[in-house]
Amino acid sequence: MDNRYSAFDRSTDRSGSKDNSKSAVGLKPTAISRPAFRIKPAVVLLVTLLITALMLQGCASEKLQNGGTELQEPQGQLQGYDADGPDITGQPEGTVPDSGNGPDPGSDAEGESGMDSADGKGEQGNGDPANGNEREPIDLDAVKPNEAGRIMVVMFHRFVEKYEKGDKEYTMTFDAFRKLLETLYTSGYRLISLNDYLNGHIDVPAGCIPMVFTFDDGTAGQFSFIEEDGQLKVNPDSAVAIMEEFNRLHPDFGLKGTFFVNLGNETFGKTGTLQQRLQYLIDRGFEIGNHTYSHINLKTEAKTAEIIQKEVGGNQKRMYELVPGYAFTALALPYGAPSKNLMEYVIKGEYEGVGYENKAIMEVGWDPAQSPFSVKFDPLSTHRVRSPGIEPVEFDLEWWLKNMKRSNEFVSDGDPDTVTVPEAYADLVDQERLGGRKLVIY
Ligand SMILES: [Zn+2]
Repeated sequence: MDNRYSAFDRSTDRSGSKDNSKSAVGLKPTAISRPAFRIKPAVVLLVTLLITALMLQGCASEKLQNGGTELQEPQGQLQGYDADGPDITGQPEGTVPDSGNGPDPGSDAEGESGMDSADGKGEQGNGDPANGNEREPIDLDAVKPNEAGRIMVVMFHRFVEKYEKGDKEYTMTFDAFRKLLETLYTSGYRLISLNDYLNGHIDVPAGCIPMVFTFDDGTAGQFSFIEEDGQLKVNPDSAVAIMEEFNRLHPDFGLKGTFFVNLGNETFGKTGTLQQRLQYLIDRGFEIGNHTYSHINLKTEAKTAEIIQKEVGGNQKRMYELVPGYAFTALALPYGAPSKNLMEYVIKGEYEGVGYENKAIMEVGWDPAQSPFSVKFDPLSTHRVRSPGIEPVEFDLEWWLKNMKRSNEFVSDGDPDTVTVPEAYADLVDQERLGGRKLVIY
């Protein structure tokens, strides 16, 4: 299974192709036939009306309530895409069988503390009343909140102007990314930071579905600088520039994401200093995570506790040198490969006097992650959904967008201080994880 991932992660072109020809997927003006030209204005009008309707209704729109199939837990523990697919049958809501990698309320409770520090809370204002207790009551039957439902933690890798080479599954074009942001926004998704997800601080409007973006490997297509008139500017051909542009148009979507970097490798291109590149992202509210110093395969290449601590702790040490005081809270496993017997050193250890402790371990998964209020929440095994690639594959984000039923997703009640769940999900709530929040069951 690991070999599946060895191709995409390291061997690929990290420059983020700068080819400016705009012949991206799905946009071929010359291919449009005459009838399509007649249809186009109607389609544009329809889409505009739909978007307007959605905006007026927030995320609670009827349009968003339908479709999708029931989500069930996979049989057995899964790490990668080529594990058994999900069993999606008409199982009634709330009867989600145990997956075998069950909850650990003890360590969850521990994990709660200490993760609040780095990141500001809920900066993406959503009409939160200043004093916090003047919230309009929501119509539960219309909004159908379910804060024990699943949250998609999306995993991105490479972004290019035009696909030329490399693993298709882990590459997406800038145009496809732009379209994806539109789709997510109009479908009611809102970005939250990984730390807010882990801490259960979920501050999105009622009816919206929180989503987490993660980016592995520090590729230049994710983020890089260009120099213009002696000034450093964000490369317009980068995912960060696209997100910033989208954020200007739709500030309520959220400008959030965690970049898992290997500081021993080239990270975010070559323009500016590495320190400047990291600091820019941090200043914008993005988070930086650990992906080991040199992208080592922890299963096959890191056979001793020393090597693991050098890779994990060495990356943290380098981060402290570049951005003093910045402690990683999460680690993404390179190639999705866990250490066989030494995971404790991946989680916690020390290298040359620098200690580290990861509160979350991100896997190369295929399915949506658990609610932070669920008894199944296990941050040390956080599943991620893969971003859409050049060609669609089963269980990538686009697949889930088509196939996941809204009733299985984490639908917000709009209040970060309450946890609202339908009765069928009440048993999934871990009281220990509420952290002083009020539980509402309906
Ligand atoms: Zn990687």
